[in-house]
Amino acid sequence: MSAKLLEGKLIADQLREILKQKIQAAHARLRLASIQVGTNPATEVYIKSQKRIADLLGIDYQLHALPKETSQEAFCAFAAGLNRDAGVQGIIVQLPLPLHLSYTEVIQCIVPEKDIEGMHPINLGRVVFGKARILPCTAAAAMELLQSIGMGLSGKEVVIIGHSEIVGKPLALMLMDKLATVTVCHIGTYKAGKLEEHVRRADILIVAVGKPGLIKGEWIKEKAVIIDIGINKIGDKIVGDVEFEEAQKHAAWITPVPGGVGPLTVMMLMRNLVEAAHL
Ligand code: NAD
Repeated sequence: MSAKLLEGKLIADQLREILKQKIQAAHARLRLASIQVGTNPATEVYIKSQKRIADLLGIDYQLHALPKETSQEAFCAFAAGLNRDAGVQGIIVQLPLPLHLSYTEVIQCIVPEKDIEGMHPINLGRVVFGKARILPCTAAAAMELLQSIGMGLSGKEVVIIGHSEIVGKPLALMLMDKLATVTVCHIGTYKAGKLEEHVRRADILIVAVGKPGLIKGEWIKEKAVIIDIGINKIGDKIVGDVEFEEAQKHAAWITPVPGGVGPLTVMMLMRNLVEAAHL
């Protein structure tokens, strides 16, 4: 048996058409403000892909490049202008930030209504109550992928590897809302030598670490669903965190890397923008 590919790119393409029609039907002029502090080669790739999708949707993507020495106060003063600008519906902050800036702090300079990454504490707080309209993009992308295969989540053993604020933590809350039994593993689980035992019992395995080959293919439970969020550059190849070929022999579904979670994450950002614009 060989797992079927859970291709986020295909779902993203379908969603793009729905969003495009919605924007056109409302005759809306949407603007997404993207703030970059300093420069970073990885960020340039994200910006390019966000801009390409925005162009396809007829969204005005406005990049604001601030110098790398920008202070927290200067960042907030700049963001305040975008917060006030009625022509801007969504604001995003490019990562990584220079070391002197804290993402947790700068995200709070953006009004929650325009935080289309869903990372403002107010938006994240709404996830706890299961009432969020703006969801953290990567977690939302993983949920969309699970929904696309029509798999009921109630009572399923879901194992998430990685407990970051942008992925693992909100995703655990979103899955609990669907009555899945959620286990969250992280570096502590690894150091205790317990990753394998958790992975072995996962009906659904979601990995967001950033370590190629961390999850051995032979650990995968028969017919499991695997969502590999990790992005690792090896030479000129991009791979995830799961040993793909071996895992494919056991799983029912597996996301390819690239072409899995990534393209859908960008589309979730655009969906949040449309949501923030109240079309
Ligand atoms: P992070 O660095 O904030 O968190 C990493 C997590 O992995 C932590 O919970 C840490 O405890 C855990 N960890 C580290 N080493 C481990 C080990 N040996 N065993 C088990 N757990 C371990 O990372 P992040 O920002 O959540 O990103 C994780 C990965 O997902 C990266 O590769 C990143 O590029 C990728 N990512 C992809 C998308 C996408 O759209 N596809 C979006 C966000 C992040």
